[in-house]
Formats: sequence, structure tokens, C-alpha cells
Amino acid sequence: MNFPTFALNEKVALITGGSKGIGFGMAVALGEYGAKVVIASRGLQDLEKAKEQLEGRQIDVKIFQVDVTKKEQVEELVQNIVKEYGKLDILVNNAGMNIRKPLVEVEEADWDQVITTNLKGIFLMGQAAAKQMIKQKSGKIINISSILGSIGFSMQTSYAASKGGINQLTKVWADELAPHGITVNAIGPAYIKTPMTEEWLADESRYSEIVNNTMLKRVGNLEDLAGPVVFFASEASNYVTGQVLNVDGGWTAK
Ligand code: NDP
Repeated sequence: MNFPTFALNEKVALITGGSKGIGFGMAVALGEYGAKVVIASRGLQDLEKAKEQLEGRQIDVKIFQVDVTKKEQVEELVQNIVKEYGKLDILVNNAGMNIRKPLVEVEEADWDQVITTNLKGIFLMGQAAAKQMIKQKSGKIINISSILGSIGFSMQTSYAASKGGINQLTKVWADELAPHGITVNAIGPAYIKTPMTEEWLADESRYSEIVNNTMLKRVGNLEDLAGPVVFFASEASNYVTGQVLNVDGGWTAK
């Protein structure tokens, strides 16, 4: 019996929003398991800082500036990766943002910004990557959702709607891309300390409410997401598709 490997040597992985937070942590994890990583986001300074840190760990890394809400930029990104490496094996579809407000205060512009970044951005990036992966007859797409894709929590109207959408498109893509040798899964973290959540988690009563919602009685960290992303990126998950894995200290099982 030959067990599949978690190793990612010679694999090319694109991580959108890889300059910071969860995307950066996932870039480290995939790189440590042998992948060549490409991180892409809008801010050049953050990309350069992340590149330096990844190279400090002997990880093979390239950076590209992209706004995932712009179709031409997303398509050009995939073309550039293929020009550079000849292929794209893994997409971590991670770039995202949040504007937290009570329902009655959500502006139309807030809704548009969150939905455009988190849902349209994921769609455009997934579509561009899938076109390349179909040609290769192989690929791993990992969409970064949230527990808010399946549970309710105040002040998250647009964000939860975008993440629920991600869970659904994950299942549709899994069905559609399976004949092409491509698996599609999603990771749904609970609260992880990153630049996006720093201020939100600084509120003591909210922080303890969040911690108490988990079975493990803590918020998550970047290391908690390493195993799940490496699993979905590697051949160890070849018979797993269309799934949403909540990495949430047990929150959604309560
Ligand atoms: P951060 O704010 O720390 O990082 C977001 C990353 O996405 C940055 O690299 C940012 O770079 C990039 N980004 C944002 N908008 C765009 C865009 N339009 N085009 C390209 N890149 C963009 O967020 P997190 O690391 O916390 O979150 C990452 C993902 O994880 C998101 O999808 C989020 O919803 C999800 N998540 C986070 C949780 C948490 O608790 N932190 C919990 C559950 C899910 P730049 O601004 O320079 O473009």
C-alpha cells in the first residue's frame, strides 16, 4: 500500500492576500512543505516585506500586485505565473475584507465593497485558475471562507452573505471540475488574530464571548491553519472535494 504524501515539492501555489495575516501564514506552510509560492495582493510594500520573510525561511517566492476585483488583472496574474513556471497547481483563494456594522447602518457602498472583494474576487480568481487547471487536467482550489458562511453573528451582514456564497460556489465548482482532475474545498476559520481582526478582538467582552463560543476556549492562530491548507493542497486529500472544513475550535459543532 502506497500512502499519499503531504509533500508539495515542485508544486506551484498561488496565495491571494498572501502579504499579510492568514494568507501569509498559509504561504509559509505551503512553502515549508516544498511548494514554490506566489503571493499576490494590492500593496507592494507589504508584498516585499512578506517576500523577505519567506526568503528568510528558504522558501521560493515570487510576488505580484493584483486587485482580485479586476478581471483583467486576475487573468494577467495567471498568465504571468504560467509564463514563469509553466503551470499553476494550487490556488488559495484567500484575499478578503470586512466592514462590520449593524444591519440598519450598513451603507450600500459597504455591501458592494465586501461582496465585490469577497465574492466577485473569489469567483474571478477561481475562474481564471480553473481555465489553466482544466488544461493541465489537475489542480487544487482552496477557498477561504469563514464560520460566518454557516452561522450567524451580529454585525456581519455583508461578510456572512459573501462567505455563505463562497461555501456554495465551492460545492458547484467541485462538481463541475471533478471530471478535470481538480478538487475544490473551503476552509472556514473562526476568529484568528490578524490585521483584519486585531481591533475587533481588542474589545475584552467580545473577546471573551468569542473564546467562550469555542469548545477549546481560545481564538485561533496562523499555525492552526497550516495542517488544513497543506492537506487540501496535497495528494493526501485527493478523494475530498466540495467540503467546507471549519477550523474553529469546535464553535460550529456546539
Ligand atoms: P488581512 O486583512 O490580515 O489580510 C487580507 C489580505 O488580502 C491582505 O494581503 C490584503 O492585501 C489582501 N487583499 C484585500 N483586498 C484585496 C483585493 N481587492 N485584491 C487583492 N488582495 C486583497 O485579513 P485576514 O488574513 O484576517 O483574512 C484573510 C482571509 O481569511 C479573508 O478572506 C477573511 O475573510 C478570512 N477569514 C479571516 C478570519 C480572521 O479571523 N482573521 C476568520 C475567517 C476567515 P492588500 O490590502 O495590500 O491588497
